Amino acid sequence: MNIHDSEKIAGILESLGYTVCDSVEKADIVVFNTCCIRETAEQKIYGHIGAIKKLKQKNPRLIAVVCGCMSQQEGVADKIKASYPYIDIVLGTSNLNLLADAIKMAQQKKKHYSVEFLQYREEDFKQSRTSYPNAWVNINYGCNNFCTYCIVPYVRGRERSRPMEDILTEVNHLLSEGYKEITLLGQNVNSYGHDLESGESFAQLLHEIGKIEGKFRLRFMTSHPKDLSQDVIDAIASYPNICDNIHLPVQSGSNRVLKQMNRRYTRENYFDLIKKIRKSLPHVGITTDIMVGFPGETEEDFMDTLDLVRRVKYSSAFCFVYSRRKGTPAYSMENQIPYSVKRDRITRLLACQNEVTKEISQTMVGQCYEVLVEGANFKYQDTMCGRTESGRLVNFKCDDSYIGKFVTVKIERASSATLWGRIVTEE
Ligand code: SAH
Ligand code: SF4
Repeated sequence: MNIHDSEKIAGILESLGYTVCDSVEKADIVVFNTCCIRETAEQKIYGHIGAIKKLKQKNPRLIAVVCGCMSQQEGVADKIKASYPYIDIVLGTSNLNLLADAIKMAQQKKKHYSVEFLQYREEDFKQSRTSYPNAWVNINYGCNNFCTYCIVPYVRGRERSRPMEDILTEVNHLLSEGYKEITLLGQNVNSYGHDLESGESFAQLLHEIGKIEGKFRLRFMTSHPKDLSQDVIDAIASYPNICDNIHLPVQSGSNRVLKQMNRRYTRENYFDLIKKIRKSLPHVGITTDIMVGFPGETEEDFMDTLDLVRRVKYSSAFCFVYSRRKGTPAYSMENQIPYSVKRDRITRLLACQNEVTKEISQTMVGQCYEVLVEGANFKYQDTMCGRTESGRLVNFKCDDSYIGKFVTVKIERASSATLWGRIVTEE
């Protein structure tokens, strides 16, 4: 989501005549597109913002902008105004449409701060996409779920779905431009459409995109387990272009913790859902987000999480240490977990998932998979990488003329999360 917002920001800057430069010392404008989902992300940004002071002394024409989730947090715009007066523009998450005018004002040395929520953000600005052959497409903004640990509903506002027609126009346009993979974005894609008068649903949207002719891949994220319906699973199963790959954040394996988190499902519901998915999509790759150290999480709760991870067999998992976010209900819960315990649990969780990934990787050795070549793996010479339909990243030798092509790769070896293969046929 953040990367895609940056593509929109870059598009706005390009339409004003700016181009990308290779070092911040040479820049006429610096835009910080911030994230505040965890405290570490926030701390990093303040460090970078502080460094602008020196750059401005060297180049008084430099314009500095802070936008994204952090600037939308209560009190942050005022804090920046007071403590970082050399920042020219602060914009909230639904104010990007004001960026061009704000820059023109800043060129005349006038500051601009806007962090009020606008009901619906139009998407009519040009986007400067950076992730070919993939293109990100927003389908809904904001979130209504209010998981007790999460800042997103406060900084991204209530859920707003884009009209289906707009999404289809954008997808068709991207495919005609040569993009080979579309990833639909939303905090909870499964609730797409519930706020639209026309009553369209996520399953309908998948059917409409699935019907588009030609070879491409469709992915989407994120699916909230409480809302992933059989209709959606059936839609995925119906079209070869929709990847058998579902990101299904579980957060915890303990019913007690899930309840405290306000996730509105139990581990039993989750297991049932996994069963249904695997029944309809036997080759599916399921990935997840998991958090350790939520307030009050006991060793027993954590063992439930490890048990769930072993049973579900995720192809990969993003594992996080719970971070206390001001303004969320969990911030004021008792029994905040000491950092040493959180660190111990995240280490054990990562080791556990690593074992699972390794096991799955071993079963892939010797098999052939269709892979979309995405780009260079700069760690190794003449090496490109790409994903299988199920979402696993594979490295293989070839040159960059292959980027955006579908190839069949035979997996030759696997080191836990990393797969290595050889191209056996190309499109
Ligand atoms: N809408 C998505 C998640 C968006 S945030 C969903 O509901 O699945 C991405 C991930 O960040 C979450 O799944 C969660 O695991 C993690 N996260 C959110 N708030 C967090 C916090 N306060 N501390 C640590 N991790 C958090
Ligand atoms: Fe945050 Fe929960 Fe909404 Fe995801 S569903 S964005 S975790 S509140």
